[in-house]
Formats: sequence, C-alpha cells, structure tokens
Amino acid sequence: MASFALHGIGVSSGIAIGRAQLVSHATLEVAHYAIPHAKLDAEVARFTNAIAEVRRELEGLHTAMTGGDAPAEFGAFLDVHWMILNDGTLSEVPKKIIVEQRCNAEWALSQQMSVLVEQFDEIEDPYLRERKADVVQVVERILKRLMGKPGLAAAAGAEHQTILVAHDLSPADVIQFKQHRFGAFLTDVGGVTSHTAIVARSLAVPAVVATHNARQLIRENELLIVDGTNHVVIVNPDKSVLAEYRLKQTELGLEKAKLKRLKTKPARTIDGELVELHANIELPEDLEQALENGATGIGLFRSEFLFLHREGLPTEEEQFEAYRAVAAGMGGLPVTIRTFDLGADKDKEGLGGLVRVAPNPALGLRAIRFCLAEPKLFQTQLRAILRASHYGKVRILIPMLASVAEIDQTLAMIAHAKETLREQGVPFDSGVEVGGMLEIPAAVLAMGSFLQKLDFLSIGTNDLIQYTLAIDRSDDAVSHLYDPLHPAVLRLLMLAIGGANKAGVPIAVCGEMAGEQQLTRLWLGMGLRNFSMHPAHILGIKQRVLTSEVGSLRPIIERMRRTDDPAKLIGLLDKLNAQ
Ligand code: PEP
Ligand code: MG
Repeated sequence: MASFALHGIGVSSGIAIGRAQLVSHATLEVAHYAIPHAKLDAEVARFTNAIAEVRRELEGLHTAMTGGDAPAEFGAFLDVHWMILNDGTLSEVPKKIIVEQRCNAEWALSQQMSVLVEQFDEIEDPYLRERKADVVQVVERILKRLMGKPGLAAAAGAEHQTILVAHDLSPADVIQFKQHRFGAFLTDVGGVTSHTAIVARSLAVPAVVATHNARQLIRENELLIVDGTNHVVIVNPDKSVLAEYRLKQTELGLEKAKLKRLKTKPARTIDGELVELHANIELPEDLEQALENGATGIGLFRSEFLFLHREGLPTEEEQFEAYRAVAAGMGGLPVTIRTFDLGADKDKEGLGGLVRVAPNPALGLRAIRFCLAEPKLFQTQLRAILRASHYGKVRILIPMLASVAEIDQTLAMIAHAKETLREQGVPFDSGVEVGGMLEIPAAVLAMGSFLQKLDFLSIGTNDLIQYTLAIDRSDDAVSHLYDPLHPAVLRLLMLAIGGANKAGVPIAVCGEMAGEQQLTRLWLGMGLRNFSMHPAHILGIKQRVLTSEVGSLRPIIERMRRTDDPAKLIGLLDKLNAQ
C-alpha cells in the first residue's frame, strides 16, 4: 500500500498511531423515494421515533458527562444541540413535508436542513454563521438513526488507538473520545477556532482538521500517524517512519509523566528569578484543571463565556456566584476577571440584538467599547465582580483599551459601582486592582497613561498580532500570515515589557503565545515574569522556566531587537532555545 502524507491544521498537539475508522457522512447518502398514502402515518411515526432516539442519545451523553471529568464546554455544546433538536423547524416541519410531498423521512429532513442552512449562510456574523455546523450535526444524528446506522456509539469498545476519519465531527461526537478511548481524529473541514477543535484541545487528543479530502483518500483500517504538533497525517507509513514516530510517542509519554511531578515546585529560573504561571479559564468549572496543574493564579477569566450558550443576560446574582466561586476556589491567589469581551467572534444571539452585526466586527463595537456603550450592562458586571472581591483576591482586567478617555470612563464606572455598593452596605475589597489589556498597537505605542492610571497590564497577543499585522485571527485564508515572530510584533512586545518594568507596573502575557514552549525563553529574556495560559500548558512552560538562565538570554534578545530579518530572528530564537 502506498504511503502518503496529508497536510491540515493541527488543532491539538501530540502524536497518535492507529487504524482508521471512517465515520459515515449520512447527509451525503440520503435516498429519495415515494411513500404510498396508506403508509404516510407510519413514515411520520418513524421520523418521530428517530427524534426520540436522538433525544435519548443526547440525554445519555449528558448523564455520562456528570461523571465529572468532561470539560465544561461539553455541556454547552450539548445544550445547543438539544435546543436545535427540539426546535419545531427541525422536529416538526419535516413531518409536514413527509405528508405533503409523500416522501421518505430522510428526504424530508434533508430538504428542511437545506432551507435552514441557506438561512444561516445569509448571516454576516461569523459566530452565528458557525452555528450552521451544529444544525448539520444534529441532522446527521437523526439521519443515522433513520438509516439504522447509529453514530459513533457503534465504535464502543474500540481498541485504544482507533483514529476517526470524518468529513466533520460534532463536539458531541468528540465527547465520546473519552468514553471509547479513540487515539485521535482528523476531519476534512474545520478551523482552529471551531468548537470541535476546542473540545479536542481540552481532551488533549491529537487532532488535525482541514485536511480537505482525508475522508475520500483514506480507507477503513489503514495505518495512520496523526501528528497534531506538525499538522500532518501519514497514511500507510513505512517501517522506518513508523519506528521514528513510535520513539517520539514514547518520549512524549515519559515527558508528560515527568511533568506531573512539577506541580507544586515554584517556577524559578536557574539564576533565581521567580515566575508566576497563571491559568486562563472560561467558566468556573475550569478552576479544577487550573489547580490540578499548579496555577498560582487566574490570569484571565474570559467572563463573556457566561453569555454564550444561554438565553438572555446573566443577572448580577448569577455573575456574582460565578465570580465568587472562582475567587473563593483559588484561596487567596489572584483571580483576574476580564470584563466582557463581547462583539467580534464572540457575538451572542441571546443578547436580543444588543450586539449588532457590524460591517467589520473585529474593528467594531467590541469589548470595552461595547461595555461603555451599554453602561447598565457594564454596571451590573462591575457590581458582581466587586461583590466577589470580598471572597478572595479579585482583580479587574479591561480588554481592548486604546485611549486615555476609555481608561478614564472605565475607572469612573468602577468608582460609581463601588459607590452604589457602599451606599447599600455591601462588602467589597476597596483596594481591588484594575488592569488593562494591551491588544491594540496604539495602546503599546502610547502606554504612558496606561502606566500612570492602571495597576497592572496584560498583553493579549492573539489580538495584538491581529491588529498589528491586519490579519483576521478567525479567517483560515490568512492564517499562514499570522506571525508571532514578525519583527513589528516583537518590537511592540519589547516596548510593552520594557516600559512596564521600568515604571514598576506588573505586566503579564495571556495570549496563546504564553503557552508555547519554544517562546518561553524569548519572553524571559525580554523581561517577562508573569504568564497566563490554558491550564494544560502550565507544567510544560514551568519546565522551560526551570531550565532557563535569564542572564545568558539577554545578549541574544538585544540582537533580536536590532534586526528586521525574519530568517535571522528564527536563527536567534533557535540560539535561545539551544542554550
Ligand atoms: C488575546 O487577545 O490575546 C486574549 C488573551 O484575549 P482573547 O483571545 O479572548 O481575545
Ligand atoms: Mg483579545
């Protein structure tokens, strides 16, 4: 059998070696046939049964998740699928189509899906448009029931290293990775920010998406190597390649086990510099993973996730409970709550049109701009955060600040929220620190007033790179241009860290760059001592810190500062890592 490689986007790192299991794509296989008048009732009943079975299937997944070790995102995905399944447009309209067109249930359902998908295609907002995939995934589930081909449940008891190859997979399908111990997955479609990718990352299962035609090219049971770190899938590897990857895999396994032992060890460089390694979380449930990995604080609580996957706005009380749980759960360690970063890709249907669909959402009414335009909503959040500050060490972090006026308005809003609490005799920490995110080049280039007015800073590299290089971070078509090592990006980072250190204002980094091991020494050499990242990355970064000597890094950083040549920059980075 010929060996070949497929390239895609590695959305979850690691190596898996195993046999392919193809996942059928039911929507591509729908037959169309007429139903005699006398059998229409039975056909409608067949459809109703399939819906009921999928309901049970989703309920089963819900119950399986209450075991506790499933990431919090799963619940949210299942809720979305549950809502779609129970919406009349999907569970009722096809019955009418069966009767009116005298057609089979599968055909009626796929007709209705086309109508719904077309409606989604017309939505400009990328977040809402992405929900189209959820509709298709729910339809797939129903179709598989109708066709007598249950979904992944058939793979129960599959051997450890079974690799799923699919055109697309729903997050709910991916959940079953945990139960059935699949080794990895690869899909034809998808992007880094797709829900399925997020779930795969939180399960630490290697995954490569956007392979375009893996589902067509790979045959059932073929031997595969999935290298999520290097974005590649090798089909039918020869003996030497296989041996090489087996070795790599063993090394990775040993590495992981060794890292666990570092949990309580302070992150100190060889020359004695103490480094704080904080966790990024999205929901209070993520706290557990942060603690398990020895986070010494929460550096970024993306509070807007309290908005997503729910109807309506969370009340002050609901928000207070969420913030209090995290503040208390961290037992006195810092908990940095970022105020809502809504808008752009984190839009929300349930806001009842509050967040309008902007012509260019990433440059529109997003984050602090949106909060200042919605003072009532912002006050509610600020009160909830301040109330939670009584139960732990809470800090407030403001996203997307660009100008002094925004800082002043925000501080005035916080002062007002404090005032209302004082009047009502509600306790809060009056010394709660307020920090700003550096995500817009303008903020870094004119950071004097940020340093004067704010207690701490945090660099959001995901957005800082997006806005510096004018590259939409959610657009696959330009993802190859998204370059953290662009000289302009490095210069901004050096400026920000140098400026903050000189002024004695604490500065951290909380973008994805913080969790990349090959960049740890770059950060340390630039003077950074506080990192915040996905909890799964903390121990790996700690190991890098423990084996680094800051003193010897600085001269190389100086040379990096002086060059605009990307090849030289890469060479110098290699030099840092070879130290
Ligand atoms: C960032 O922009 O780097 C960041 C941490 O915020 P988010 O990814 O939520 O925009
Ligand atoms: Mg950001």
